[in-house]
Amino acid sequence: MLTNELKMEQSNLSGVLAENLFQILEQKQAIELFALQWLSEERQKPLNNITDFLYGDRTFTRVVLFTDAGRIFYRSSPRGQADNADEDIKSLLDEMSRDPGVRVILKEDGALQPPWQIPFLFPLKKGTEFKGAMLLELDIGYFLNLVQEINIGRTGRITLFSHRGAELVRFESGGLAIGGSWPRGRMAEAFEKASGSGTFSYPGSGDHYLTYRRINTYPLVITVSQGLDEFFREHRHNERQLFIILTVLTAICILAVWMLVKMINRNHQYLEALSASNRENKELIKKLALEHQASAKAASVDPLTELYNRRLFVSLSAKSLARARRNKLTYAILFIDLDRFKKINDSLGHHVGDLLLIEVARRLVDCTRDSDIVGRIGGDEFVVMLTDMSTEEDITPVVDKIMAAISAPYENLDGNRIITSPSIGIALYPRDGEDIDALLSNADAAMYKSKHSGRGRYSFFDASLNRVSVQSFRLEQRMPSAIAGGEFVLHYQPKIRLADYRVVGLESLVRWDHPEFQLIYPSDFIDIAEETGLITDLGIWILEAACRQVVRWKEQGLEPVPVAVNISPLELKDRGYAEKFLAVLAGYRLPPSCIEAEITENAFIHEKDVVVKNLSHLMSKGVKVSLDDFGKGFSNLDHIRSLPIHTLKIDRSFVQEIRNRHNDNPIVSSTIILAKKLNLTIVAEGVETHDQLINLKVAGCDEVQGYFFSRPVPEQEIRGFIRSPIRSV
Ligand code: C2E
Ligand code: MG
Ligand code: MG
Repeated sequence: MLTNELKMEQSNLSGVLAENLFQILEQKQAIELFALQWLSEERQKPLNNITDFLYGDRTFTRVVLFTDAGRIFYRSSPRGQADNADEDIKSLLDEMSRDPGVRVILKEDGALQPPWQIPFLFPLKKGTEFKGAMLLELDIGYFLNLVQEINIGRTGRITLFSHRGAELVRFESGGLAIGGSWPRGRMAEAFEKASGSGTFSYPGSGDHYLTYRRINTYPLVITVSQGLDEFFREHRHNERQLFIILTVLTAICILAVWMLVKMINRNHQYLEALSASNRENKELIKKLALEHQASAKAASVDPLTELYNRRLFVSLSAKSLARARRNKLTYAILFIDLDRFKKINDSLGHHVGDLLLIEVARRLVDCTRDSDIVGRIGGDEFVVMLTDMSTEEDITPVVDKIMAAISAPYENLDGNRIITSPSIGIALYPRDGEDIDALLSNADAAMYKSKHSGRGRYSFFDASLNRVSVQSFRLEQRMPSAIAGGEFVLHYQPKIRLADYRVVGLESLVRWDHPEFQLIYPSDFIDIAEETGLITDLGIWILEAACRQVVRWKEQGLEPVPVAVNISPLELKDRGYAEKFLAVLAGYRLPPSCIEAEITENAFIHEKDVVVKNLSHLMSKGVKVSLDDFGKGFSNLDHIRSLPIHTLKIDRSFVQEIRNRHNDNPIVSSTIILAKKLNLTIVAEGVETHDQLINLKVAGCDEVQGYFFSRPVPEQEIRGFIRSPIRSV
C-alpha cells in the first residue's frame, strides 16, 4: 500500500474514533437534563434517575453536580463527604461562569490518577444563564472498548490528549497506558486546528507519523500515530519488493546485456577473424591478380616496347571490330615495317636497335589516340588499328603523321643519330577484310607493295585508294603513247546472281600499268582522258581489249559470261558511237550479247537525244545497257523510266550503309521494289560483307558485285570464275 493510502487510513481511523468518543461523551446530556431539572424545579426531589442512568450505562463511573456557588447537590458515589466543591473546582466554576466550556480536570503534571478515570467538568446552563456544573468521570475502560479491536501494529498508538496537550491515556500494542510520557503542553501548539497530521517525536519511541482530531465541543484530542519505520514499512516492503523485482530485472538486464556484449564480442571476434582472413584473401587475390597481371602482361605485352604483342593485338582488334560491325565507321589496319632496320641492327648493335624500336613505339603511341590499338608483332614490324574513322579520307592524314613522325631523325640513340623510314601497308575494314586475320594479311601485302615501290611510302591494299603523287600533266603527256603502247590493262570483277550464286557477268575495269608508278586506277586518269578527248581512243581500246579477251576465253574452250565495259558520257555524245561499238564486236565476230554497256546518269545531262539514240540502237541490236552508280546522281526512278536501259546498278555508297544483318537500308529496298516494277534487273555494287549480301538477297536484289566475292582482278585470276561459275557464300 502506498504512503498516501496509509495516511488516509490513519486519518479515517482518527475521525471514526473522535466521532465515537463524541457520541459517548454526549451521553452526558441525559445527566445534564436531570441536573438542570433539579436545579430549576424540583430541587427537593432526589435525583434517582441519574443513579439509574449511571447503573444502566456505565460510561461515566462517577457524577458530582455543583450549583454555581459550588455546593454539591448530587454525588453518585460516596467518595468524599464534603458538601461543597474543593478550591480547584470552585475556581473552575468561577471561570466557567464567564467562559462556559467543558473542562478536563487534571493534576499539575497532567497525569491521570488512579482509579484511572478522566474527569470532565461540564457547565450547566439554562439558556445562557450559568446554573452550575457537573463533574463526570469517564471510565478509561470505555476508551479501551473503543480501540482494542483496532490493529494498530507494533508501534501504533491511539492517544487521548487534553486540548492543552496533556496526554491522558494511550492505547498501544502492549495495552492501555496512562498518559504522562508526553510532556504536558507539548502538543498544544500542534492541536490548533480541528484536525491535522505530521511527524512527531515520541520520547523513547522515535518518530511517529501522527494524525490528530479534536473531539467536537470537548477539550479532547484523539491521535492515531505509528512509528515512521513501521508506517513506511509496508511502503518499504513494497519498495523492497519493487527493489527486489527491479534488482532481479536489472540483474536479468545486466545478464542479457552481458550475454549480448559477449555475443557481440564473440561476433566481433568472428568478424575480426573473418575480416582478417578476408584481408588475407584479398591480399592473396591481389597478389595473385598482380602475378596474373604480370604473367598476362608478360604473355601479352612486348617486353621491349611495352606495346601489345601479336596475341593481344589480335584479340583486342577482333573485339574492336565487333563494335565496328555495329556502326558505320571505318577501321584501318596499318602494317608498319622499318626500312633498313636489319642494317642498323647489324652495324650499330642490338642495343641501339632496341633503343630505336622503343623510340619508334613511343612515337607511334604519340601519333595515335587512346582508342587506337598499337602493337609490335615482329622484329621491326608494328601494327596499328585506327578505330572509329568516319570516312576513308580521315585515314590518310593519320598515316601522313605517322610517316612523318617515324621518319624524323632519332638524335641520340646511345650517341648515334639514326634516320629510318617506315613502309606502311593499309587495309580497311570492311572493304579489305571482315576479320582481323584477313585485314592483317592484306595490310601486310600492301606493306610489301610500299617496300617494292621504293620504301618510305604507304599503300592501301585496295590500290584504287592509293594516291598518285605524280602530276596529272605527266600522265596526260604519256597517255596517247600508253594507249598505243598497250600500257592499259583490264581487270575483271564478277557479277553474281543471288538466286543461285552463279557468276552471270563480268565488269571490265581499266588500269594503267604505268612503268614508273605501277598500277594507276581510273579515278586518276579517266578525268584526264575525258578532258583531253583521249577518252574516245581509250574507250575503243577498252572495248577491243574486252572483245579480244572474250575471244581468247572462247578459244581456250571456256564459256565466257557477258563482259560489261564502262562507257564515258563523252563517247556516247558521238552520233556514230553505237555503230562503232557494233563494228568492234563484229570485228571479233562476237554477238552483241557478249558485251554489255555501263553508262552513268551524267550521260543524259547534255545531248540526251544523241545518247538515247546511241543506246537505243545498241539495245535494238541486243546489247544490254546498265545504268551505273544509280543514286549517286540526279536521277529518280521516274526519270529513268524513259531511259533505254535494262539494268540498274545501285551505287556502292548505299550498299555500304548496310552494316549488319538487321540494318536494312530503306533506299536500297525501295529502289529494288520500284525498279522491279519497271522490269529492270537490279545489281548491287560494292558488296563487301556477308551481312550486306544477305540483306540484299532478302530485299529482292538480282545480282551483286563487290569485294565480298572478288576484287577486280587480272584476266588470269578471273578465269577461275569462268571455269567454276557457282560461288559459295
Ligand atoms: P564503276 O564502273 O562503278 O566501277 C566500280 C568501281 O568500284 C571500281 O573501281 C571497282 O574497283 C570498285 N569496286 C568494286 N567492288 C567494290 C567493293 O566491293 N568495294 C569498293 N570500295 N569498291 C569496289 P575502279 O576500278 O577504281 O573504277 C572506278 C570508276 O572508274 C568506275 O566505277 C568507272 O566509273 C570508272 N571506270 C573504270 N573502268 C573504266 C573504263 O574502262 N572506262 C570508263 N569510261 N570508265 C571506267
Ligand atoms: Mg561500272
Ligand atoms: Mg559503279
